[in-house]
Amino acid sequence: MKKNNYHTHTERCKHASGSDEAFVQSAISAGIEELGFSDHTPWNYAPSSFKGSNIRMFLDEFAGYKKSILALKEKYKDQISIKLGLEAEFFPAYMDWFTKFVKEEEIDYVILGNHFHGSDEDGPYYGHACDKDELLELYKQDTIKALKTGIYSYLAHPDLFMRGRKNFDHFAEKISREICEACKEMDVPLEYNLAGAEVSRMSHVQQYPHPEFWKIAAEVGNKAIIGFDAHSNRQLENEYYYKQALSHLDALGMEVIDTINFLR
Ligand SMILES: [Zn+2]
Ligand SMILES: [Zn+2]
Repeated sequence: MKKNNYHTHTERCKHASGSDEAFVQSAISAGIEELGFSDHTPWNYAPSSFKGSNIRMFLDEFAGYKKSILALKEKYKDQISIKLGLEAEFFPAYMDWFTKFVKEEEIDYVILGNHFHGSDEDGPYYGHACDKDELLELYKQDTIKALKTGIYSYLAHPDLFMRGRKNFDHFAEKISREICEACKEMDVPLEYNLAGAEVSRMSHVQQYPHPEFWKIAAEVGNKAIIGFDAHSNRQLENEYYYKQALSHLDALGMEVIDTINFLR
């Protein structure tokens, strides 16, 4: 199996560190064969309604992102394959714009990071809000609606809701099963998120990837893909969580894939 990674951020999202080139160099020294940049997408917020998000690049930063990644792709083409991607939510009011944007900008792929309901202008953050059953239900509904658009190559941190939910109870189990079954039916891989694994270990709180969620995914027969969700180039060089992920998925008997479907 190839060591590829399609979940990589850049400093433009305002909560990552390391130059774009440092991410590429770290990926090469970690033995990664294909590196996809998938920084948090900008959205075309109405200027009057919103000052701009502090967790993603601004729309006018996108051109610089694209230019930088394409230049690195060319510069390092003999050492590593580089793809231009985005991590995006499902914001219904902006999806027509987003679909067009992805096409016009020749984005290689998009991964679904279902972080907010509605939009991050005023919608709740699913990572914190899902202790409430109504919000967890909405998380599932948005996830499935998003994936039905067919533009997302995989579902990033499918169990993000365990960041804020105290217990993996019956309702969490029901929702997880529904998400896994929908992904199985649409043939959408689930991401085993290494940034979450690191946070869980460091904080001694089991957030995501949550063992109970992955037990269900194994039962349903989902495909798994490992994503570093690197917010620092150093994370790409950390073998610990990568190896742990492989052994967890292997113990579950899951099919682990190393590449994704691209849009172009
Ligand atoms: Zn991020
Ligand atoms: Zn994310």
